[in-house]
Amino acid sequence: MSTLIDSFGRQINYVRLAVTDRCNLRCQYCMPAHGIEIVPRDHLLTYKEMYRIIRVLTELGVNKVRLTGGEPFVRKGFVDFLEMLSFNDLLDDINITTNGAMIYKHIETLEKLQKVKNINLSIDSLKADKFNEITRRNVFDEVFKTMEALEKSSMNLKLNVVVQSGINTDEINDFVRLTKDKDIAVRFIEEMPFNGKGQRSIEENWNYTKILNEIKSEFSVTEVQSEKSSTSRNFSIENHKGSVGIIPAFTRTICGDCNRIRLTSTGTFKSCLFDDGVFNLRDFLRNGASNEELKDLFLSLVKEKPENGFIAEANRKKGNVSESMSTIGG
Ligand code: SAM
Ligand code: SF4
Repeated sequence: MSTLIDSFGRQINYVRLAVTDRCNLRCQYCMPAHGIEIVPRDHLLTYKEMYRIIRVLTELGVNKVRLTGGEPFVRKGFVDFLEMLSFNDLLDDINITTNGAMIYKHIETLEKLQKVKNINLSIDSLKADKFNEITRRNVFDEVFKTMEALEKSSMNLKLNVVVQSGINTDEINDFVRLTKDKDIAVRFIEEMPFNGKGQRSIEENWNYTKILNEIKSEFSVTEVQSEKSSTSRNFSIENHKGSVGIIPAFTRTICGDCNRIRLTSTGTFKSCLFDDGVFNLRDFLRNGASNEELKDLFLSLVKEKPENGFIAEANRKKGNVSESMSTIGG
């Protein structure tokens, strides 16, 4: 079987797929208050197109998919799509990243889908006012209730916390405290300028090292061996049920072991988070491409995967990164 190996010898086995560019929240670090310009519905990949792309990728060795957005649960039929994807016998894991504001009623169904093992819930503050200010919507209670239910569910729960200078850095250790009694992996993410307007002026640069030092100021942490392709560096804390991790998304020290490709909701293939899209799969499919042609295309596209995010960014044609993460699929 041909598999997806890039020109640096990295085996690609993970695809992140944004199922929509729409979202019910307006997080300050992700998009402007008025939202982003969403694409017409027929520009989005259909579920059948997504299924077909994922099937072909799994025939090339991909065995994990992360579904994201926008907010995946905003798209009608998303839970049915999860069921459909579960029928792909070559797929081992279906992971989901969600803001959690619409999923409480679906938790039981998700638990029944055996390949849905990991849920990443985005929650940037444990204080209702702050949370609602960050997301510009009044959904803290719903998201918090969902977090508690997910923690009790059979799925693994990770919390994504974007560390925002001057906004939620005082809560870093409150999140760490949550892991004492809850079996949750809290992951702090360096803020990136993917917000619809570019780099925002910040008081202090909360990078990996600064976040770690903040945690160490209160907790004694031990780094744990993570999977080679993990996006986070992970730590355990004595007597804590859960764990913490830091995702150096902006300082990009983890690119060497990257095993991922991305597809936007409009079918743009991205071989790196920081590139500006290298191929439009939607048009290729709609022009009648066969599965064999798709396979050949993927095999050649991964050979162009840049060595790291800095090179990808330097190669961009559309200028500095500024697009909203909701169009990329974070
Ligand atoms: N709507 C879902 C959610 O919020 O979980 C899925 C899509 S969202 C774009 C995926 C992840 O990207 C979230 O954890 C979010 O916090 C993160 N994200 C969005 N904009 C970001 C930025 N500018 N810097 C760092 N992370 C960002
Ligand atoms: Fe929506 Fe997720 Fe972006 Fe927040 S981070 S606006 S929930 S896509």
